[in-house]
Amino acid sequence: MSEPLKIEMEGQLGSATDALPLVEASRCTGASCDATAAIDFAGRSLCLDHFLPTCIAELESRNDRLRTLSFDAAATEAFKTFIANCAKQAKKLAEDPRFTQAHTKTSLLDFLLRISQLTQHIRRSQRTMSAVPIWLRREDPHQTWHEETWTVSVSRHGAALLCRRPVEKGGTVVLCRKDKGSRATAQVVYSLRDSEGRKQIGVQFCDPINFWDLD
Ligand SMILES: [Zn+2]
Repeated sequence: MSEPLKIEMEGQLGSATDALPLVEASRCTGASCDATAAIDFAGRSLCLDHFLPTCIAELESRNDRLRTLSFDAAATEAFKTFIANCAKQAKKLAEDPRFTQAHTKTSLLDFLLRISQLTQHIRRSQRTMSAVPIWLRREDPHQTWHEETWTVSVSRHGAALLCRRPVEKGGTVVLCRKDKGSRATAQVVYSLRDSEGRKQIGVQFCDPINFWDLD
C-alpha cells in the first residue's frame, strides 16, 4: 500500500512544495467523515472525497486572486507550479490500488479535466501579443500629456506598456489603440524600469472590457 501524500502550501500565493509522505496514517478531518486520509492538503488530512472539492476551491480562489493581481508573473508561475503539483497528486491517486471504485476514478478524472481547463484559462488570460501600438494619455488636471507607445504584454485585465513620462501608481491613464481607435480608461498598478532599462508601467482597466479582443 502506498503512503498518503502531502501537499504543502506556503503563503497566499506561495509555491507548493513537492509531495511529502505522511509519517503516520490519519483520519480525514472533513466534516463528520471517518474515512482514512489519502492526502495532506494545506495542513489538513483529507480523504479523497474531501480532498478533491477542497483542492478545487483552493485552485479557484487562487485563480481569482491572480486575476485581480493581473501582472504578477512570479505569482502566476507559483500558481502554475501549484496546479501541476495538484495534477501530479491526482494522477498518483488515480493509479493507487486503494481507490478502485468507479465513482472515485470518475471524480479524479473530472478533477484532472478541471485542472487542465484552469491551466488553459491561465494561458489564455496571460497571453501576450507583441507591441500593440498605443496612444497613451494622462488626464490629471495638473499634468496632461500624451505619448505614442507600445504594449509589452496584454491580459484580459490590462497591459504592461512602455512609458517615457513619470506616472505614479494609482494614476489614471487613457489607452487608445492606434490600430482600431478603441479607448479604455485604466489605472496604473506599477511603474518600474524593466530588465532592458526601459520605463514600464502596468495598468488595469477600470471597466471590464475585452480591449485586446482575447478569446
Ligand atoms: Zn473525508
